Amino acid sequence: MILKIKNIISQIHAVFVDNNNAKTIDAVSIDSRSLQNSSQTLFFALIGSNNDAHLYIKNLIEKGVQNFVVTHIPDDSAGKANFLVVENTLVALQLFAGYYRSLFDFPVIGLTGSNGKTIVKEWLNFLLSPDYNAIRSPKSYNSQVGVPLSVVAINEQHNLGIFEAGISTFSEMEKLEKIIKPTIGILTSIGSAHDEGFGNLEEKIREKLLLFKHSKVVIYQKNEIVDANLFSFKSGNQIAFSWSFKDATADVFVTKRPVSDKTFLHIRQAKENFEIEISFQDAASVENAISCLMVLLYFKYDVTIIQNRMKLLYPVEMRLKVKNGINNCSIIDDSYSSDFQSLKIALDFLESQTRAQQANIRNKQDQKKTVILSDIFQSGLPNAELYSKVAALIISNKISRVIGIGETISAFKEMFTNCITYKNTAEFIADFDVLIFSNETILIKGARTFQFEEIVSLLEEKTHETVLEINLNAISHNLNFFKSKLKPATKMMVMVKAFGYGNGGFEIAKLLEHHKVDYLGVAFADEGISLKNLGIHLPIMVMNPENTSFSAIIQHQLEPEIYSLKGLRAFIKIAEQKKLKHFPIHIKLDTGMHRLGFEANTIDDLIIALKGNQTIQIKSILSHMATSDDLKQKDFAHSQIDLFEKLSSKLMTELQIKPIRHILNTSGISNYPESQFDMVRLGIGLYGVSNDDEEQKYLENVGTLKSIISQIRTIPAGESVGYGRRFMAEKSTKIATIPIGYADGISRGWGNGVGFVTIKNEKATIVGSICMDMLMVDVSGIDCKEGDAVVIFGKSPTVNYIAQKLSTIPYEILTSISQRVKRVFYRE
Ligand SMILES: *Cc1c(COP(=O)(O)O)cnc(C)c1O
Repeated sequence: MILKIKNIISQIHAVFVDNNNAKTIDAVSIDSRSLQNSSQTLFFALIGSNNDAHLYIKNLIEKGVQNFVVTHIPDDSAGKANFLVVENTLVALQLFAGYYRSLFDFPVIGLTGSNGKTIVKEWLNFLLSPDYNAIRSPKSYNSQVGVPLSVVAINEQHNLGIFEAGISTFSEMEKLEKIIKPTIGILTSIGSAHDEGFGNLEEKIREKLLLFKHSKVVIYQKNEIVDANLFSFKSGNQIAFSWSFKDATADVFVTKRPVSDKTFLHIRQAKENFEIEISFQDAASVENAISCLMVLLYFKYDVTIIQNRMKLLYPVEMRLKVKNGINNCSIIDDSYSSDFQSLKIALDFLESQTRAQQANIRNKQDQKKTVILSDIFQSGLPNAELYSKVAALIISNKISRVIGIGETISAFKEMFTNCITYKNTAEFIADFDVLIFSNETILIKGARTFQFEEIVSLLEEKTHETVLEINLNAISHNLNFFKSKLKPATKMMVMVKAFGYGNGGFEIAKLLEHHKVDYLGVAFADEGISLKNLGIHLPIMVMNPENTSFSAIIQHQLEPEIYSLKGLRAFIKIAEQKKLKHFPIHIKLDTGMHRLGFEANTIDDLIIALKGNQTIQIKSILSHMATSDDLKQKDFAHSQIDLFEKLSSKLMTELQIKPIRHILNTSGISNYPESQFDMVRLGIGLYGVSNDDEEQKYLENVGTLKSIISQIRTIPAGESVGYGRRFMAEKSTKIATIPIGYADGISRGWGNGVGFVTIKNEKATIVGSICMDMLMVDVSGIDCKEGDAVVIFGKSPTVNYIAQKLSTIPYEILTSISQRVKRVFYRE
């Protein structure tokens, strides 16, 4: 929809600074990297805790953007574009979205609750798609920023909206209500997620119900708290539409009957009775399915249509998953949805995965990017316009080849470059052998009806069973958690040494670059070189530079930590030969760790060596604490901090320099917040591990080491398991073999009854000795079969728990996981 700037000004309470340029817009953006059409875009310059989009305005003007919402006009951009100046750009975005929403008048379903929002949203979309052209929020875009962005994607062709709203504390829901303005409200399951922000369950429910302030109907599972609070804000002819398994006074009474792997639901509404079938048994899926059913009932669908469609509900894959493919390919499996919004997100993910794969390939071949895409539904746009947008997006993402599957995309084949098309999935499969996939990262994205899971299974490599899954969202969460402990001016270096503490170097560095941390730290030059070669631009400090690596350090623009006079002289000599000026180095002081660094009695010599030197520049001065995690040794910690203050001040005065000073690692950030100096060095905390039990509760688990069951057998009493017969069965015992062993980094000490793995949410004790490539567990009493997933560590057991049992530290557990275990990254 084309909007006039002049109508927007008052809606967002802006002061307009006019440059006589284009005065209409038809798109909104907050992300400087993924702009589509420039001149008609209204760019909101959001300010985050670690990012200020005002910095990109100059660049965006060069790209043709003409209209900006800002808090201030950057000096270098005045007079070059139109500016709408507001107090707070996020509030302005929310006001704008609310205004934009009010221009459309069709049913809008608003979903909130603690669990199930995204699934109910996806299912409703599926159930209603034969009759509606629905706009829905992509994946879980349910936050203060995500919701406005979802809403501004509405266009004239849509006739139904499905949006989810997630909140973590008070007053957030009122804002989201004004943006979504739902006419139909659904409260999904209320669990304990995000409880921290609320005093108790009732408060949480009351806050969530604010989403429905102006809804015509509210759908929920009957419950006293909701009943008591629902219409405290009643504003007219709202109705409650409740369901229950227990309370016969609910509008819809449901009885469930599980049969083999399905559930039959007997539905009683008023005088009517009927039965539906769904292909799930777990409680959460059944409740989510009933929420969807309630909407169909509210829309007064025919019972036979309801029965037919509910039967087809499918499991929703909630995240983009990367799988190992055949011939060195990686595949991103997004084979359940196909819409324009989620295509953008998936293409972003494809880009970062391709780079990560590049890092793993030994034979230096380029990793190509391939997209297998079905027809796209429900865009609301005419097909010609839709596919030209899709083609533009694909071309701007530099995709090497596109395989289109479906009648419609085939008709628009000419818009793409390097595109082949098939009328349907069967035709593609018939051609599979001649297509040849190798060294590619392949995004497989298709609407449900195309059954792209068949393509996924053709391309998937079936041998690797053990993977370390890395949750990138959890890393972002943990980073922000520690950021929130810093003073606004404190910079952050993140340690990605030892392959990101075993979690994967490049992928994590890339994410940290996205989050705009200030520095990365590695142990050795080769780690830094590999990051630079893969395109990481952040400055990287090398903590342990050997003299032989100085040349390479300079060549790759890495920054050495210098800890001795000998090292300093050697580095200066090489730097002089290369005729460098002001090359950044970092000075390490030994304040008590006694590992590396200049001691107090060498400072005078250091000053003499540095005075007047123009070849190098002291970028920072640092030291490292020996006891930051041990509150019993606070005195020693303070003595280190005091000595650091004293020695670094001396260097600064004598040399007349103002470098960045830093001494705190993760537990230092938590225990000595007053000593942040100018920067901190975050390590283990980023990876979700804390030395402090209380703090641990706030961190999210990052790595999950997973495998599968290779074989199951039952042995009678008296039989043994494994080498040395160290396990003897006292009774008939069911044994499962898991293909992971000490060569993968699982300590032998974890075997013989000490450790356990988790299968189907139950503990299975490791029996007998751990072998090189395998281990055996006792699964008596666990309902499991060959091929089932096994968690070695993650949420349970945690890395911390294993470390305690093995009398070591979590650092060792994480960094021991062998490089032969494939790392797989995902976002929620
Ligand atoms: C590893 C390391 C860190 C990070 O320590 P964590 O305890 O993992 O936060 C900080 N500084 C130096 C010098 C290090 O070697």
